[in-house]
Amino acid sequence: MMKKLITNYTLSELKEEFEKLGLEPYRAKQVFRWIYKKFVTDFDRMTDLSKDHRRLLNEKFDFHPLKKLEKVEAPDATKYLFQTYDGHIVETVLIKERDHLTLCVSSQIGCAVGCTFCATALDGLKRNLITAEIIDQYIQVKQDIGEEKIRNVVFMGMGEPLANYENVRKAVEIMISPEGIDLSKRRITISTSGILSQIKRMAQDPVMREVNLAVSLNAVTQKQREKLMPLTKTNTLEELMEVLKNYPLPKYRRITLEYVLIKGVNDTPKHAELLAKLIGKHKKRFKVNLIPFNPDPNLPYERPSLTDIMKFQKVLWKHGISNFVRFSKGVEVFGACGQLRVKRVNISLVKI
Ligand code: SAH
Ligand code: SF4
Repeated sequence: MMKKLITNYTLSELKEEFEKLGLEPYRAKQVFRWIYKKFVTDFDRMTDLSKDHRRLLNEKFDFHPLKKLEKVEAPDATKYLFQTYDGHIVETVLIKERDHLTLCVSSQIGCAVGCTFCATALDGLKRNLITAEIIDQYIQVKQDIGEEKIRNVVFMGMGEPLANYENVRKAVEIMISPEGIDLSKRRITISTSGILSQIKRMAQDPVMREVNLAVSLNAVTQKQREKLMPLTKTNTLEELMEVLKNYPLPKYRRITLEYVLIKGVNDTPKHAELLAKLIGKHKKRFKVNLIPFNPDPNLPYERPSLTDIMKFQKVLWKHGISNFVRFSKGVEVFGACGQLRVKRVNISLVKI
């Protein structure tokens, strides 16, 4: 029989699994702490377990669903490539901010949303990642960097996290659990293309509504949005803004609206005016992240000039809308937004 993956379980699920094996529930807590506090992924090093228990657990459980293939370093980001049991490649990017580290995790292999500006979309959706495959990205990066602390986790790698709700939810639960990784809820961000049913589900979910919500807007009219993001045909811009304006936000929290700036497509002051109009009087509820398009040889777009980016910003400021320009880190290693794609493996060392 195949072994089970221990990182696929939340603490309460692991307690149940252990009970089935005749182990006391507190043993689950012990093992959980070894994995997520010390990042020990070897039962034989878990010194507070008896030899018999270690043998039993070794028989039943494995730790790592992913095999680390390659690590590519740039000055401000490191890209990790992992291989799944069925031969797919998963990419994870560790971003070096000025005073902290942010881990950008993948939630699916490929993506079905089909955004025309995103390299992940080019191959369509292969499959969802299971919880253990999401958590293992964190564990293996942490084991690689040692004592350095990862402060933020963003679900902005490959895939649409809300199209893989259950697995992402469990991963988030393990990340914020005090016995687990114990990350601050406000340091986790789910970035979505805006699947309405799942955003509404998030709003009702005691785990998911605690983390940050970022929504990739990228266009200011329905017509343009469904051209750029085909799957938003059924999740309209109007409905999306309505849902976001009513989303139950924790105190002092805002929803991030992400907007990829593409030269000659959505980057004029007129677009900025329309964006301000969409936000309307809800300025305190939103902040805007402007992401200058990251080029890719397979994508037909360009990045706007700095002057045009600033003109766009100016309009938002005029309307009192907080906004930031986010130049993606990791462009050199193809680890930046929209550049994550399996075929990068061979050319990931090429500088652009
Ligand atoms: N699927 C989710 C999360 C992954 S994409 C989502 O779309 O939100 C993360 C971010 O990268 C999104 O805001 C997306 O709009 C942006 N992005 C995609 N392709 C890009 C590109 N080529 N350049 C810059 N940003 C890009
Ligand atoms: Fe999917 Fe996000 Fe890329 Fe769109 S931008 S194809 S939703 S990963």
